[in-house]
Amino acid sequence: MSDRHREAMATRPAALDAERPGARPRITVALPATSPFSRQMLVPGWDQGRLERARVLIAGAGALGNAAAANLALIGAGHLAVADFDRIEVSNLSRTVLFRRGDEGRSKAAVAAERVRPLMLARDPIVLPLEGDIVWELGWGVYRRMDLILGCVDSSEARAAIGTPAWALGVPAVFGGLYAHNGGVLTQGVGTGPCVACGFSAAEWDDWSRRYSCDQVRRTAAAEAKVPATQIIASLIGALMVQEGLAFLHGDSRNAGTRVFVAAQRPVIERVRLTRKARCPFHAHIAPVEESPALSNQLTAGELLEALGVRDRGVTVRLGREFLLGCRCKGCGRPLPLCKPRHRTHATELVCEACRSTGRPLTNDPQIASIDALSRGTDAAVLALSLETLGIPALHLLEVERDGRTGWIELTGDLARVLPGWPGEVSQEASS
Ligand SMILES: [Zn+2]
Ligand SMILES: [Zn+2]
Repeated sequence: MSDRHREAMATRPAALDAERPGARPRITVALPATSPFSRQMLVPGWDQGRLERARVLIAGAGALGNAAAANLALIGAGHLAVADFDRIEVSNLSRTVLFRRGDEGRSKAAVAAERVRPLMLARDPIVLPLEGDIVWELGWGVYRRMDLILGCVDSSEARAAIGTPAWALGVPAVFGGLYAHNGGVLTQGVGTGPCVACGFSAAEWDDWSRRYSCDQVRRTAAAEAKVPATQIIASLIGALMVQEGLAFLHGDSRNAGTRVFVAAQRPVIERVRLTRKARCPFHAHIAPVEESPALSNQLTAGELLEALGVRDRGVTVRLGREFLLGCRCKGCGRPLPLCKPRHRTHATELVCEACRSTGRPLTNDPQIASIDALSRGTDAAVLALSLETLGIPALHLLEVERDGRTGWIELTGDLARVLPGWPGEVSQEASS
């Protein structure tokens, strides 16, 4: 410590001493040492009960998800769900405190849940893995049973996919990002403030569009830029995400709608306030939601329409995504059946084998036939398919128009399968 620093410390007001690293705590009440939380409960305003009751979705089980999960476990968060579609690779191991050599090839979500469980200090903790693509395969009924969502993902598409239902259902969400020695944390509140996409840079919008072809199907080898990152910055940002989340769990939303930049080498931490973009496409509200224990994504589309009373009245179910029936080769006119959701379709599947063999590239404008809603007039072959085959995740919310009135229903029949034992009450839903 330089003389100047020592002098500055010496002249600090006494009231700041408790905030100085290494300073003696100003509260010296002797607590029984029977609780692992006795030290953190000395923090002014700390509410251990709220943390034990908290339900947190950790969306993404990579570097940030690992760091956030470990922090949440140790501070006594009671209920964690860890979502990821990916498998562990050897290159993950240097930034993932929950993974070990030998885990390569195993599910990130399953291993993270398995390893974080013994770290959880809450009484009767629950930790659940949710294996699947966060963008398309995570039902929105999961989001509405959370008190906090941590977006630990590295693509703008995934951030928007997490931010949209969180915003629509009124659940606070915190997002992290890493680059080399730098990182950022974006805090999305509830109500009418800016959403995560309001804070997207031009580069983030570019990253999203690179993942899809001109036909809006997935590029097979999506240009996945490998982001330089270390465990140091991942643990810093993961911890900062949990710090921001703690405020929400304690009912404090003053940091909502802000972004914190961290440059670890200098170091610098800076907070800026985000502006809500009036034309941002992600500001829908969903409320109220009708829970429907008889409905599940295992039903066929026809069974769903029956259950919603299609015999007696007009019913339209919006899928919120597209199901591709087939396309026609622009070169030879040959029909190519697809019968799969757009998000599970890759650009190579739109290439006509016959024309490829003659060397004519025909991937442009393949005249795709698709549906995005179900009703009495839907093709019988489609009505015989399960909602799962149509690309609807378990415990999802569907927009339903009945007799000209629009509302939201939940496939609540999937609840026990997706979130077994999860505390039931639903988060405050944003009113429209
Ligand atoms: Zn927005
Ligand atoms: Zn052809």
